[in-house]
Amino acid sequence: MTRPTDHVRVAVLGAGFAGLAAATHLDGAGVDVTVLEARDRVGGRVWSQRLETPFGSSVVERGAEFVLDGYDLFREIATSLGLRLVDSGMSYYVRELAEHPDITTDLVAEAGTRAARLARTMPAGSSVLDVLGRLGWLDVDPVLVEALRSRVEVSNAVDASEVAASALDHAASFEPLPSHRVDGGNQRLALGLAARLGDRVRLGQVVRAVVARDGGALVRTEDDEAWLDHVVVALPLSLVRDRDLVELPTTPARERALARLAQGHAAKLHLPLAATPATSAVLSVPCRFWTWTAVDATGGVAPVLNGFMGSTAALDRLEVATSGRRWARSAKALRADLTFADAEPLVSTWRDDPWARGAYASPSPSAVADELALLEEPIAGVHFAGEYAEPEHTGLMEGALRSGRRAAQRILAAVTDQN
Ligand code: FAD
Repeated sequence: MTRPTDHVRVAVLGAGFAGLAAATHLDGAGVDVTVLEARDRVGGRVWSQRLETPFGSSVVERGAEFVLDGYDLFREIATSLGLRLVDSGMSYYVRELAEHPDITTDLVAEAGTRAARLARTMPAGSSVLDVLGRLGWLDVDPVLVEALRSRVEVSNAVDASEVAASALDHAASFEPLPSHRVDGGNQRLALGLAARLGDRVRLGQVVRAVVARDGGALVRTEDDEAWLDHVVVALPLSLVRDRDLVELPTTPARERALARLAQGHAAKLHLPLAATPATSAVLSVPCRFWTWTAVDATGGVAPVLNGFMGSTAALDRLEVATSGRRWARSAKALRADLTFADAEPLVSTWRDDPWARGAYASPSPSAVADELALLEEPIAGVHFAGEYAEPEHTGLMEGALRSGRRAAQRILAAVTDQN
C-alpha cells in the first residue's frame, strides 16, 4: 500500500536539536529526508566533552546544560532513546550571592517575585531595565535590584534594556526546582536521533542558499544543489538574519519578527578541582557570571567548577574572546571555598563560532506575540525551525525540539492535504 509520504523528498538544514527533531519525525512518517550539517558533528549548540580532572575524566557541557521544568518533549525523546536523566543535585533557579553574604536567596526571590508582578503592570514595550528602575523607586535595596539585573542579563545573555519585561516571569523564577542533565552528556540526545537517520545525516555540508518555488525548493550547498519537495531551515538566528551568510526566502512580516529578537552572547568555563566539592550555585553580581558544582552520572559531585557568563559587555570586560585566564582568575576568587587543580581553564565561546554566531535568542521589549508567531510560517515549501522561533521556550533546547517537531508536522499536514 502506498502512503501519501512515499516519494516526498525533504532536506533539513542543520543537525542541531531542531533539525534532528524535524528529521526523525519525518523519517518516522516515511518521508525521504536528508540532513545537511556544516560541522563535523551533530548537536549544534549542545556539545558534551570529556574533561580531565585529578580524579579521572568528567563529561562537561560546552553549550546547553540544564534540562529544566516543563521540558516535556526533551523527556519524551530521551525516554524513547533509552537515555537517563541525572538530577544535578543543585537548582538552576537558586544562586547564592557570595559577594553579598548578608543578602539571602530568599530576599532575592522576594524581590524577583515583586519585579515579575510589577512587570505585568508595565506598558507594552517595557524592558527589564524599566521594571528594575521602578523597583528602585519602591525602596527595594539597590543591591537586590542589581542582583536581579545581573541574574536577568546572565540568563538572557543580553543587557537588561534589550530584554522584554515579560522575561521576568521566567528569568526571575526562584523556586528551588530540580535541574537535570542526560547521563553521559546532553549531546547523546542528538547522537541518538542522528543514529536513527544513519547516513542520511551528511556532515561537512555548508548550505549557501535556499530558493522557494511553488511545489518545492532548491537547496544550494558549497558544492552541490538539489530540488526538494520541502526544506526545513533549522539554522541559528544569526545565520538566518544575515543574507550574506545564507540566502533565504523571506517576507516583510518575517523580517519584522526577526528584528524583534535579541541575539544573546554567552560563554562557558570549566575548571577541574583538586578536591571533591559539595553541590553549589553562586552568582557574581558585578561580573555577570555564575558558577556551580553538580552531581553527575556517577552519583557523586563532579570535581569540576562550571561557569556561565552572559551578555556582550560582560564577555568584553573579562576579554573572554581572547583568553579565559581573566575569567578563570575571577571565578577562583569568587569560589575561594574550592580547591582548584593546576590546569588550564576550558573556555567555550559561541559568538565567534561560525555556525552559531551567538548563544541564543530572547524576545526584545518591542516583541509582539502575534508577530513572533510568524517566525515559523513557511514560505512556499520552505519551513523554519529553531530555538529562536519557538514562543514559549525561546532560546532553550526544549524550544528547539518543539519547533523542529512542529515544522515536520506542518510538512506532513501539507503532504496529506495534497493527496
Ligand atoms: P543549533 O543547535 O545551533 O543547530 C543549528 C545547526 O545548524 C548547527 O548544528 C550548525 O552547525 C548548523 N549550521 C549552521 N550554519 C549552517 C550552514 N550554513 N549549513 C549547514 N549547517 C549549518 N538551553 C537549555 O535548554 N538549557 C541550557 O542550560 C542552555 N545553556 C546554554 C549555554 C550556552 C553557552 C549556549 C550557547 C546555549 C545554551 N542553551 C541552553 C541553548 C540551546 O543550546 C539552544 O537553544 C539549542 O541547542 C538550539 O538548537 P537549534 O537546533 O535551534 O540550533
